[in-house]
This record gives sequence, structure tokens and C-alpha cells, in this order.
Amino acid sequence: MPTPIKSTPRVVIVGAGFGGLNAARALAREKVQITIVDRKNHHTFQPLLYQVATAGLSPGEIAAPVRSVFRDHANVISLLEEVDGFDLDRRVVHTAEQELPYDYVIVAAGATHAYFGHDEWEPFAPGLKTIEDALEIRRRVLLTFELAERQAAAGASNEPLNFVVVGAGPTGVELAGTLAEITRHVLAHEFHNIDPARARIILLEGGPRVLPAYPEDLSRSAEEQLRRLGVEVRASALVTSVEAGAVRVGETRIVAPVVLWAAGVAASPLGKKLGTPVDRAGRVLVEPDLSLPGHPEVFVIGDLASLKDKHGKMLPGVAPVAIQEGKYVAKTIRRELAGQPRESFLYWDKGSLATIGRAAAVAQFGKIHISGFVAWLSWLFIHIFFLIGFRNRVLVFIQWAWSYVTYERGARLITGATTLPGWSGMYPAQTAVPKPAEEKVPTARAG
Ligand SMILES: Cc1cc2nc3c(=O)[nH]c(=O)nc-3n(C[C@H](O)[C@H](O)[C@H](O)COP(=O)(O)OP(=O)(O)OC[C@H]3O[C@@H](n4cnc5c(N)ncnc54)[C@H](O)[C@@H]3O)c2cc1C
Repeated sequence: MPTPIKSTPRVVIVGAGFGGLNAARALAREKVQITIVDRKNHHTFQPLLYQVATAGLSPGEIAAPVRSVFRDHANVISLLEEVDGFDLDRRVVHTAEQELPYDYVIVAAGATHAYFGHDEWEPFAPGLKTIEDALEIRRRVLLTFELAERQAAAGASNEPLNFVVVGAGPTGVELAGTLAEITRHVLAHEFHNIDPARARIILLEGGPRVLPAYPEDLSRSAEEQLRRLGVEVRASALVTSVEAGAVRVGETRIVAPVVLWAAGVAASPLGKKLGTPVDRAGRVLVEPDLSLPGHPEVFVIGDLASLKDKHGKMLPGVAPVAIQEGKYVAKTIRRELAGQPRESFLYWDKGSLATIGRAAAVAQFGKIHISGFVAWLSWLFIHIFFLIGFRNRVLVFIQWAWSYVTYERGARLITGATTLPGWSGMYPAQTAVPKPAEEKVPTARAG
């Protein structure tokens, strides 16, 4: 039980993602002073990032300024700052500019990309975690077609283009499926010198099947749906190196102007700054009430927390876990301030859904497994329902309905640089284009 608090309790929340935002919402009507600190000024609805990356939605439609979410709550302060540490004895959160004292702190800093010790691959294979990442992927994808068109118009030969997605978890599957859709339908008739429909979308998975966390029948169905969309699925294909414009799988080199990384996540490095044990992925080991061992006033939630369910299975890094944990911690604080004892956190697993593309998805609700259009409709309505803000829900619904009927993707803007890493080396202007299919080259196994 933390030391009794005499004045208005101060709650600092680190991170305005699914966990932090839901904790703050559930506490905002209580007599507490809440400070939300995030290095971004907005909450990002990560499950729809792939739509921004593939030009289906604009960033403002899947993100909400934290300040505006709490505009009606005078007791909620929002700070745009990066947290860089904690002093648990003095009960302060550190940022570059100040120390924030707390009676309770909720650490919900989420996760980041993991390149299995090969951070040098990141510039050549961006991952998808933030709005900035999504815009960079959109830039690379759209720019590839523009550069190919320009070269073909200038007389260079016109070869198929390769897009490689590394990792066939839910993010890799939705990126690959949507890229296939764009090349075959959206862009197919808009270019004069190249045929976007000839682009190859290659999905590489190190394990034996796509969607490894799903039951085998749904993995098989997902693979079939991907193939129908035109994605080349290669399982047991462990990437051994990534360079500008190419990926190696053992001795096979796959030339690709765009390589996307969806293969691994690691907990935010902030977890280690708490100074208590973390698991292999850097997640903080927490007590059954999500508090830090020896520090009942410190809670760690969401992707940053390591906790097992009642069957001994690790809770997955998904939005419902973070949301339920955020609400649970708010309730725990509320109960404690009213003199009531703590209870353990129990996760209610309502099922999992993964989208693949237009009318293609898989879903598991307990023993019920569904695929195809019905699963896709469920995915769509559930995600619209959980989007932050009524305006965003309406806008996203209209955009989806429109693009379902017309195949249009309205956010096809290339912003930023008009160069691609590895492009000029692969297809120098005015010269013959090397075959972008696989070529065998001798290579040392990386990693
Ligand atoms: C592309 C993608 C697709 C996904 N799709 C799904 C899906 O379909 N369904 C599903 O259930 N889950 C999905 N997830 C997973 C889900 O988004 C996460 O499980 C969830 O966001 C975790 O919530 P969180 O609050 O722990 O962290 P996050 O939502 O990641 O929030 C962390 C917050 O902390 C902030 N932060 C981090 N470090 C600092 C710091 N040092 N100082 C200040 N602020 C900091 C960040 O800016 C961020 O706002 C997806 C994730 C990704 C990346």
C-alpha cells in the first residue's frame, strides 16, 4: 500500500497510446491531477497505420491530438515531452526539461521495431509504428512507380518491380495484401510506360506459416487469400541481410526497390530505466496488479508489460490488452483512494482478427474460426468502433465505403525526398534494367 496521500493525488501517465489514453479517460472524472506525457502530441490508432502507408487514409483520420481528447477536463494536463528516466525513491519522472513528481505513475510507452541486432538494416527496410513511418512507406511505394515510369519513358527497359515484406504477422500480412491490391487495381490503368500489375509482392516469413500466432486452419486460409490477391508467400525464409534495394535469404538475393520490415518488435527502452527485471523482449515483469515489484505506486501496462494469463500464457502485444490494463489501473487507483483493497488483473480475450485485403481477413472468436468477407466486415466495424473521435469514425467509414466501390485510394501523395535508397544502383537511367528476379550470389550468413 503506497504512503497515504494528503493533497489531490498526482498521477503521471507516460505515453498516450492505447494503455495510457484509456487509463487517463477512466480517471479523468476523479479528484486527481493527471499529467500525460508523450513525445508526440497525438494518439495514433496503430491498427490503421497500414492504410496510411498504402494511401487509403490520411494521417489525421487515424490520429487524435491528446489535448483535444481531454479538452473538457481541467484536471488533465498534456505535455509534449520525451521521458528519459525515473527516480523511484524520490517519486519523480525525468524529462530533458523537468522533473514531474507523482503519487502514482503509469508507464505505457509501448514497443518499437526490432531488427534482431541489425539496426543498420533500418534505413533500407522501414518498419511501421508511427505516422512518420507510414508516410515514409507511402513515399517509397508511390515513388517506385513514378521512378519506373520516368525511366521507361526515357527508354530504359521495363521490368517487373519487386516489393518485399519481411515478416508475416498481422502487420506484414495486411501490408502485403494491400500492396497487391494497389498494384493490381488502383494503379493498374494510370501509367503509360509501365504496367503496375506486373509488380511482384513477396512476403517472407522465417517461420513455417503466415500468422504464426493464429490457429493453423486460419493461417492456411490467410495464405490462400494472400495468393488469390497475387502475393507470393514464402515461409521458412529467414532474412540474413538487408541492403539498399535488396534482401538476402541465405544465398538468394532478392532485388527490391521497396523492402518493408514487419518482423519483430521490442519493448520501449524506457522499461529498462525502471531498474527492475525485464524479459527477453525488454518487457517489464509486473505483479498480478500490474505494479512494479516493491513499488505499488508504479504501474507498467500495455506492450511494455510482461504478464501471463491464468493459463500461464504471455499476454499478447495487442490493443485490447493495453486498453483493459489501462482501465484496470485507473480502477485500482480509484479504489485505493477510497480505501478499498487491490484485485489482480484479469484479461478478457474477446478474440483476434487479422485483415488481409479487400473482403479478405481471418477471425477467431473462441472456438469459432471465420475467413473471408464476414471476417473482413467484422474487422472493419470493430476497428471503426474503437477509433478515437466521432469525426474520425465517420470519415474512415466514408473513405472505406468509397474505395470499396471505386477502388480509389485518395491519399496518394508523395511528400519528402524523391530518391530511393538503392534505386539508381539498380536501374540507372538510360541503361538496361537488370532482372529484378532472384539471382544466386555467394554470401556470408549474417547474424
Ligand atoms: C502497424 C501495427 C498494427 C497493429 N494492428 C493491431 C490490430 O489490428 N489489433 C490489435 O489489437 N493490435 C494491433 N497492434 C498492436 C497495438 O497497436 C499495440 O498493442 C498497442 O498500441 C499497445 O498500446 P500501448 O499503450 O502499450 O503502446 P502504444 O499504443 O504504442 O503507445 C505508446 C505511447 O508512448 C509514447 N512514448 C514512447 N516512448 C516515450 C517516451 N520515452 N516519452 C514519452 N512518450 C513516449 C509513444 O509516442 C506512444 O504514444 C498493431 C501495432 C502496429 C504497430
